[in-house]
Amino acid sequence: MAGVTVDTRHWIGGERLDSAATFTDRSPIDGTPLAEIARGGAEEARAAVAAARAAFPGWAATPPPERARLLHAIADGVDARLEDLAAVETADNGALLRSHRRGVMPRAAHNLRFFADRLLALGHDDFTTRGHTNHVTWDPAGPAALITPWNAPLMLATWKIGPALAAGDPVVLKPAEWTPLTASLFADITAEAGLPPGVFNVLQGYGAEAGEPLVSDADIRRVSFTGSVPTARRIARAAAEHLVPTSFELGGKSPLLVFADADLDLAADLAVEQYDNAGQVCLAATRLLVEEPVRDAFLERFLHRARALVQGDPREEATGIGPTIHPRHLERVDGFVRRALAAGATALLGGGPHTELTGRTGGAYYRPTLLAGVAQDSEIVQEEVFGPVLTLQTFTTEDEAVALANGTRFGLAATLATGDRDRADRVAARLVAGTVWTNCFFVRDLAAPFGGSRASGMGREGGDWSFDFYCDLKNTVTAP
Ligand code: NAD
Repeated sequence: MAGVTVDTRHWIGGERLDSAATFTDRSPIDGTPLAEIARGGAEEARAAVAAARAAFPGWAATPPPERARLLHAIADGVDARLEDLAAVETADNGALLRSHRRGVMPRAAHNLRFFADRLLALGHDDFTTRGHTNHVTWDPAGPAALITPWNAPLMLATWKIGPALAAGDPVVLKPAEWTPLTASLFADITAEAGLPPGVFNVLQGYGAEAGEPLVSDADIRRVSFTGSVPTARRIARAAAEHLVPTSFELGGKSPLLVFADADLDLAADLAVEQYDNAGQVCLAATRLLVEEPVRDAFLERFLHRARALVQGDPREEATGIGPTIHPRHLERVDGFVRRALAAGATALLGGGPHTELTGRTGGAYYRPTLLAGVAQDSEIVQEEVFGPVLTLQTFTTEDEAVALANGTRFGLAATLATGDRDRADRVAARLVAGTVWTNCFFVRDLAAPFGGSRASGMGREGGDWSFDFYCDLKNTVTAP
């Protein structure tokens, strides 16, 4: 597909393995079938975990500099195949090709390099207690199951693969069934880089059929999951059986607070950015909270920019917004909007699927949408839509702004637009969010903790926090 050959069987123990059944992977751009994918089940999950388990002693004993060298070699392989990876990812998930080329794939390589380097810089602070030495080590924990969603497939996978492999944990990656392709290409890259068999495995298939037995396997020692809240609950139950630590990066309903003292052009730029990847970004600030006196001035700037967004084929340079991931997902997004409109909301922009484009291409295109007249306790304000749908609410005081911002069950991120530094500090301190951006969005340093509060997740990854998760820390106390 996209002129690139991808082997869509599982990658287990350094070999390709088939399943009796397959499923069809289609492009959200035009609905064309891209490939038949191996449809794994309990048997394949067991084989993948067994391969990871067999590889564990050797990988755990591999000296950190050698692990780091291999991660760098894989990152070099990602760079070398950047065009292929970008083309395949765009065909598979419909996000903009130019973003994949310039931002996402370089970031995937960076994820690997960052954690390789971080491994070598990990502190081993020794200290003494009444003459006894405490020697703290970051020991590998064992096979890790990595479960990823479809909105940024390889980028999110490498955010887990990098630290897990650096830590000495072999992994089994189960990519999302709607975007299975770059994981398979990545397996080739790991092999070409010389990663020993079984250290990296890919299990293809559906969540309930392949994912569930994987996370339930007694030999899995860590589960790192990015996806939805209902799936996190299922995984938490399965992991509880064997008391396996889990890391959850889940959904969001993040606010963008625009204060009257903000640079309104910047605020409008930040708001329109929320349509990136057709709004299918966990961090997206989908609730625009605007101080009443500047509502109209902000709205005018926002609508001007949003109307200029070109919707269409994500492979074309001029396109600013592509399709949603799947016709079923488009239906789900539209259901939220229809119910909101029926409940009294007004569409200031969009408000439905792009029927002409969808009909002509066979893809799944939803118009960038802004809904006003929405109540704080309404479904559209409270639930994650995961599409190009924003809501507009106003506030008159800082207290009200904070109450609205914090008034959902999520707590992933928040963005502030304000010209007042003191206000920014004051408000940021009161927000429930794993990340707060002031006058910027999506600036992410891998050294920073990343994760969500409340229903947006459990735990933090990034920097040494990733090693906290993927390692078993050990303290060895020696008498003088
Ligand atoms: P999903 O929960 O439906 O699926 C995610 C993955 O879990 C897929 O690989 C799926 O096959 C697998 N899965 C499903 N059921 C399973 C089970 N019982 N056991 C094991 N694995 C199972 O989520 P999605 O629709 O693919 O992704 C969208 C969600 O992901 C949104 O809620 C979004 O906010 C969230 N997300 C969060 C972050 C973050 O960093 N916080 C990043 C991206 C996406």
